[in-house]
Amino acid sequence: CSFAHFGFDEYLMEAIRRSEYEKPTPIQAQAVPAALSGRDVLGIAKTGSGKTAAYLWPAIEGEGPIALIVVPTRELAIQVYQEAKRFCRVYNINVICAYGGGSKYEQSNELQNEGAELVVCTPGRIIDLVKIEATNFLRTTFLVFDEADRMFDMGFEAQVKSISDHVRSDRQCLMFSATFKQKVERLARDALVDPVRIVQ
Ligand code: AMP
Repeated sequence: CSFAHFGFDEYLMEAIRRSEYEKPTPIQAQAVPAALSGRDVLGIAKTGSGKTAAYLWPAIEGEGPIALIVVPTRELAIQVYQEAKRFCRVYNINVICAYGGGSKYEQSNELQNEGAELVVCTPGRIIDLVKIEATNFLRTTFLVFDEADRMFDMGFEAQVKSISDHVRSDRQCLMFSATFKQKVERLARDALVDPVRIVQ
């Protein structure tokens, strides 16, 4: 499998070339075509597998308006945000990062004033921002839960469920987890429709 098989536009291809990635990782080779075809995806994959790009590239190529990427920690949010910025640089895609511990006031302003298109967030914070009406889930058409098992380990079960329940039901949803425990299985059943299953 080569990057050319994905049919990405030239700007994304150029950004990938600049990353000096030789070829898609196995998770990318499987998840990207599935996501581009509009399918939901359940990926059991660890950090280091290239899973971040596997959901960022389809999010970037998608029609939007908003891709919401939910991750367990501030550190991961910042990491995903930076990777997203790198691939979005040549587009006018506005990437916003909203995590617990950061300024709610600043994140709220960014969401309200800048027209977010790709939002990387932690579960508790995005729900807080929705509660104060800094944003809403109405225009979210592409939803990602990354490191789902870790979100449950950290006690975010109710928040993750709430996000899944409030994002429009016709959204496309991708879910990644290093392990496939019972809670992950339950979320997959609730959040995904006939997903393509990928096990690394
Ligand atoms: P991740 O599993 O998303 O945390 O990615 C792990 C690392 O692999 C990151 O530093 C990525 O920049 C890098 N990476 C992602 N895709 C590829 C690829 N196709 N070839 C080589 N490295 C990659």
